[in-house]
Amino acid sequence: MQGNLNVQTENIFPVIKKFLYSDHEIFLRELISNAIDATQKLKALSSRGEFSGDMGDLTVEVKIEKKKLIISDRGIGMTEDEIDKYINQIAFSGANDFLDKYKDVQENLIGHFGLGFYSAFMVADKVEIDTKSYKDAPAMHWSCDGSPSFEMKEGKRKDRGTDIILHIADDCKEFLEEHRILELLKKYCRFMPIAIRFGEESKWEDSETEFTEVDDGNGGKKKQPKRVEKKIPRIINDTDPAWRKKPADLSDEDYRKFYHELYPMNFEDPLFQIHLNVDYPFNLTGILYFPKVRKTIDPNRNKIQLYCNQVFVTDSVEGVVPEYLMLLHGVLDSPDIPLNVSRSYLQSDSNVKKIAQHISKKVADKLEEMGKQKVELKDADGNDVADAPTKLEEKWDDIKIFVEYGMLTEEKFCERAMKFALLKNTDNKYFKLDDYRDKIKTLQTDKDKNVIYLYATDVDEQHAYIAKAKEKGYDVLLMDSVLNSHYINLLEQKVEKTRFVRVDADTVEKLIAHDDNIPEKLSQEEKDKLKPIIENEVDKARFTVMLESMESDDQPMVITQNEFMRRYKEMSQTSGGGMGFYGEMPDSYNLVVNINHPLIGQILNETDSDKQKNLVHQLTDLALLSNGLLKGEALTQFIKRSVDIIK
Ligand code: ADP
Repeated sequence: MQGNLNVQTENIFPVIKKFLYSDHEIFLRELISNAIDATQKLKALSSRGEFSGDMGDLTVEVKIEKKKLIISDRGIGMTEDEIDKYINQIAFSGANDFLDKYKDVQENLIGHFGLGFYSAFMVADKVEIDTKSYKDAPAMHWSCDGSPSFEMKEGKRKDRGTDIILHIADDCKEFLEEHRILELLKKYCRFMPIAIRFGEESKWEDSETEFTEVDDGNGGKKKQPKRVEKKIPRIINDTDPAWRKKPADLSDEDYRKFYHELYPMNFEDPLFQIHLNVDYPFNLTGILYFPKVRKTIDPNRNKIQLYCNQVFVTDSVEGVVPEYLMLLHGVLDSPDIPLNVSRSYLQSDSNVKKIAQHISKKVADKLEEMGKQKVELKDADGNDVADAPTKLEEKWDDIKIFVEYGMLTEEKFCERAMKFALLKNTDNKYFKLDDYRDKIKTLQTDKDKNVIYLYATDVDEQHAYIAKAKEKGYDVLLMDSVLNSHYINLLEQKVEKTRFVRVDADTVEKLIAHDDNIPEKLSQEEKDKLKPIIENEVDKARFTVMLESMESDDQPMVITQNEFMRRYKEMSQTSGGGMGFYGEMPDSYNLVVNINHPLIGQILNETDSDKQKNLVHQLTDLALLSNGLLKGEALTQFIKRSVDIIK
């Protein structure tokens, strides 16, 4: 039989070729998907008793033979009528109209509209189908050279199944190279549900017949089997990937192994995972892993992979996964995610939106649950440790970046997270937001009824300030994430009457302004005389001299940095643009002088101007030193001056 393909346009093939040339490689996924479908249909028929013959080896095979690429399956095959219905009459009308209308979603066409098989013409100038149905019907042979006419006749095939034979076009020779095909199989077919064989691989094992002689360690010789190379079929896929299994059947070790199967180039273990298993109102399975991320965020390295019934679709998951979870690793599999889609299409798909919301909810559920579960710890006598940390506390340092980023970008997630998000203090204790407020509110409420959250960003650098605050009975948080300034702003908005202040933002008296003032020991006149003496000795561009009334046994001089200036500067550095002006400002500090300290009185009364200058230098240097700001030559001079004083 000869005939014309029932495609409304005369030239569907050039159209396919032209529009899809950027994604030529997906032809292999399409053809192998068909082969797998045909095989699964046969298995289904057999399990329902509608096929009673011997199924035999159902492995799908991919072969390169000279200029041909062949995909063979042992599935249900096709009868003459079926070829006519499914292949000849392409379920596709007005191809050109359609292409015109959806110029930007060309990728969506294939697969959606039964063009899957025809994607073969993206790389082949002739395609043959050699098939025999499981039904009692003659084998069929079909061929088409890319024009809308085809040839169909009875075939010679004896056994059930289908071979798709591609005569690869001259400009697509890459698809005749073993490494290229292997790469594509690994990309698209790695978890397809029927075994796929491509060539052979080597396996080294002990020979049963050949031996060599080796030293036995006692001066004699002993026989040892020779290692011999054996060729075995190369199966390229894992037909039963972990995400398809029941969570109850998987151990942590199984999850860990699967992670490394997914990302062979990543040697670090994930922290924990969420196994998704939904069948209503949409179908979704998958495993999301929380990787270890500390300071650097690199969403491009191990991306979440999207599958449709174990067929790889894409690893561009924007729109499917909430943005903050793009930092996660793992797989998502849903038959409701369209197989061939552009990104704009994905984002507007309502199923996809629901999936994104669902994932976000599941992540919040999991974190909340971890916040309630204690880590199982036993003491020396084998009893449970009562104050063991929660599972969330245990992992918090590693995952706080996800939570903070999620809270900053997803309103709904933020609402949920306000209940489980943790704060960590400089004594390494963790608190839920509400609990922390209760803990500090008595001592740390200022005269305007704001609760002041004191924090440090570096325990070593800000040690002196932390110690001072603790002396006063205050608690100091450790806030050291990259998103800090943004996150702190968010908390100030979300929790009423709350202010965050870094410990070095002011003198300890002023960090939390209470009503009681400390009486001043200097008169206004004396203060006016003191200020220029000190100002003359410091770099005025960097330091603003401020005279303060502090306890007489406090430090004589302290360096502080205005909270808001500093935070703006940090925020503009992490948000890139917008607040550029602040980002480029040099750091500026306050040099706070404690006018009640006896040494400050001594400066004022010193008549020898060299001695006076020395004293000012020594005290400013001490203040700088305790802030980690004394460096280079200034540090050398300070040491020299100190030694002179001791002599
Ligand atoms: P789709 O797979 O989206 O239905 P295709 O153009 O890829 O569209 O295939 C059309 C039809 O041809 C399939 O639905 C199936 O009935 C039949 N078919 C394709 N390949 C095979 C095969 N290897 N074995 C049996 N039937 C096949």
